[in-house]
Amino acid sequence: MEHRVYADNAATTKLSSRALNAMMPYLTDNFGNASSIYTEGGAARKAVDQARETMAQCLHIKNPSELYFLSGGSEADNWAIKGAAELSLKKGKNHIISTKFEHHAVLHTLEYLEKHGYEVTLLDVHEDGLVRPEEFEAAIRENTGLATIMFANNEIGTIQPIQELSAIAKKHGVLFHTDAVQAVGTIPVNVEELGVDMLSLSGHKFHGPKGVGALYLRKGIRLPNLVHGGAQERGYRAGTENTAGIVGMAEALKESCEVMEERNIRLARLRDKLIDSLLTIDRSRINGDRVHRLPGNVNVCFHGVEGEALLLSLDLKGVAASSGSACTSGSLDPSHVLLAIGLPHEVAHGSVRLTFSTETTEEDVDYIISVLPPIIERLRAMSPLWERIIAQDNT
Ligand SMILES: *Cc1c(COP(=O)(O)O)cnc(C)c1O
Repeated sequence: MEHRVYADNAATTKLSSRALNAMMPYLTDNFGNASSIYTEGGAARKAVDQARETMAQCLHIKNPSELYFLSGGSEADNWAIKGAAELSLKKGKNHIISTKFEHHAVLHTLEYLEKHGYEVTLLDVHEDGLVRPEEFEAAIRENTGLATIMFANNEIGTIQPIQELSAIAKKHGVLFHTDAVQAVGTIPVNVEELGVDMLSLSGHKFHGPKGVGALYLRKGIRLPNLVHGGAQERGYRAGTENTAGIVGMAEALKESCEVMEERNIRLARLRDKLIDSLLTIDRSRINGDRVHRLPGNVNVCFHGVEGEALLLSLDLKGVAASSGSACTSGSLDPSHVLLAIGLPHEVAHGSVRLTFSTETTEEDVDYIISVLPPIIERLRAMSPLWERIIAQDNT
């Protein structure tokens, strides 16, 4: 088979074999309904309870019952934001604070709420891809009921000061949610220390199965029910439990937490090696801060290059990469994240995101380093935009 390098782990990751093995019994013999009282159901119930405990332990959640299983990151974001908005409204607060570079699961939910009478302030993100806590505090008003700020950005990998932000929210009586889908399983996440009220996570971003995730919901916050029906998930989210999915997600998280420290040292070195190498290319720049950054995230733009062409050329050479989020590639709009950190349209277009996982090797990175620069050179040679940039330089 041709040489393939999968470098789009921010979009999704491969199911780990440990997770698959943990899931198998619940896809086969232990098919019982976790809510039934006979033996088969009991096995499933036990597995779901155990998974909740395992995940709570990895995330330093005091009470496992504060963790609610649902279908993924988008659903967790939707529930947290719409639910907390509704709760806040009961106290007369209809203002929500977020940022310009959130995932669409957050941004589109906020657009929906705006149409229903809520006021939304989207904080600017600075050129380094970081939110300033003092600007967050300045945006809080009398009627602010909720803030939602992502932990780590899915495109440029920048890591926000969540602990500091949530402390500010608490001081002003504002509920605080964080979309931690890119952080959980990737970097240490200590929910107790972070002090957040709500936190979203998704199994398939850390080598768990797709279609399963969770929301951490602090005890005492009574969100409206997400799905009405049976009594599953303490009545908040009805529907027969996805036992295999839940078990696989918990096993994948446990595995991620076990290997995290060593893996991240290795991935940060590979990340820096790739960034350093790509920055030697003429008129290239790194998107987002280099220090407050996920260990496996590389996002670089090349002036005078069209992103889609770059991705197609990389794919032909066996490299799976992305120009931003999977949700926007396929459209010709430049990434809202890159625009939010101040890149002009045509520059934002020439960006590539390469994201690593446990499976990424030094050989993979060396391979990318060998194929990417000639692609840039070839694309620029046929680019009218690049010709214009060079012509401008020479006048
Ligand atoms: C992937 C992702 C989501 C969506 O998660 P799904 O489980 O695919 O719905 C939400 N937020 C961020 C930051 C993501 O990276």
